[in-house]
Amino acid sequence: TYVVADNCIKCKYMDCVEVCPVDCFYEGENTLVIHPDECIDCGVCEPECPAEAILPDTDPEAENWLAMNTKYAEIW
Ligand code: SF4
Repeated sequence: TYVVADNCIKCKYMDCVEVCPVDCFYEGENTLVIHPDECIDCGVCEPECPAEAILPDTDPEAENWLAMNTKYAEIW
């Protein structure tokens, strides 16, 4: 899965949402989040994010954000 990290805070761009083929972005508290079970790991969103807030779960930083993404995605 890919995860949204803190660079997303206050970012108003929605480019990632528009390109995601499975619509797995959801609204979190002050960021967007990616539903980890719905993300198909296509990677299309990563270069589209102007804030560079989207990380693959292979990135060492990603583990800090996975729980936040899961929590807010599953509210929906
Ligand atoms: Fe959507 Fe693909 Fe990004 Fe996953 S990697 S959130 S499926 S655009």
